[in-house]
Amino acid sequence: MIAPGGTIGILGGGQLGRMMAIAAAQLGYRCIGYAPQGDNVAEEVCADFFTNKWEDAQAMAAFAQKCDVITWEFENVPVPPLQPIASLLATQPHALETAQDRLAEKRFVEERGGQPAAYAQIDTMSGLLAAVDRLGAPGILKTRRDGYDGKGQWRIDTVRDAEGMRLPDMPTIYEGFVEFDAEFSVILVRGRDGEIRYWDSSRNIHEGGILATSSLPAGPVVEAQVEEARALAARIANALGYVGVLTLEFFATKEGPVFNEMAPRVHNSGHWTIEGAATSQFESHIRAICGLPLGDTSTIAKTVEMTNIIGKDAASAHECLSDPAAHLHLYGKAKARAGRKMGHVTRITYE
Ligand code: AMP
Repeated sequence: MIAPGGTIGILGGGQLGRMMAIAAAQLGYRCIGYAPQGDNVAEEVCADFFTNKWEDAQAMAAFAQKCDVITWEFENVPVPPLQPIASLLATQPHALETAQDRLAEKRFVEERGGQPAAYAQIDTMSGLLAAVDRLGAPGILKTRRDGYDGKGQWRIDTVRDAEGMRLPDMPTIYEGFVEFDAEFSVILVRGRDGEIRYWDSSRNIHEGGILATSSLPAGPVVEAQVEEARALAARIANALGYVGVLTLEFFATKEGPVFNEMAPRVHNSGHWTIEGAATSQFESHIRAICGLPLGDTSTIAKTVEMTNIIGKDAASAHECLSDPAAHLHLYGKAKARAGRKMGHVTRITYE
């Protein structure tokens, strides 16, 4: 157990780290961040911050020396620099390795009984054409690594589209398009002792590949598929020896829950838990990695709607507060640009 006054290291400097550090402060911990140069909005709420390259072994060692436990808020932290600090990591980097590569992730999930969208590994143009022929179109070509918020994805509607494409200069997969009724996520927290708790699954709506809203109740289509999706998420968390918050995203289809992707971290679709659940995903993550008892993850609101503020200047964001049901979270990012998450608003109604 990490005693109050202990220090948590956070790899990554984005809004997830920022909200994690705020929750950690409430529990009496101080956070130190580590991330390469960038818009590290976690920095202003961390006690100390290392702005260094991931590969800077000396800086990484100096950072680790100050920490009692280390976690990440960003799943694309390169794994080799973490090997020397592995003894301090709440979860071993195998979870990152699995989630960083869409192909490895899908295989890992299939081996545990999950059902991803039909997919094929693509290395050449002839491989792509064969995959489109075999799996059909529409479909989506995705880079295996480094894609997020719809980046590194190209929709293919016809064989012709595929013929006219130039493959990106990195490994890809082709995924058949899933005809889904809804999208939802399973977010769980797993303690050091293996205990698992879940939040209610929100219904998630994406626009242009980016999460736009998460709402509860999620409705019967989602609710009917949550149990099966949770069972898969638990098998994955157990197989990874995972400690902290883990997220799996699903498509609800006529054939049951189809696995989309996993995030070995707190997740945008769980931001509603700050006001809508007895214990938020951020507090829960801190409790888990510090070896504290897990809190109550029940929903305490009657309805929840979390809306992301994307690509818009945050200057007028306070206007939403004229609605007493609205809770605003701004991330402190300097400049709005298309597709950039600047903050979110959660609207809550209680019984
Ligand atoms: P991803 O980054 O892979 O989670 O994709 C972002 C969003 O694009 C998803 O949440 C879906 O809305 C959509 N999407 C991605 N892959 C598929 C697919 N195979 N079939 C249908 N929609 C998809």
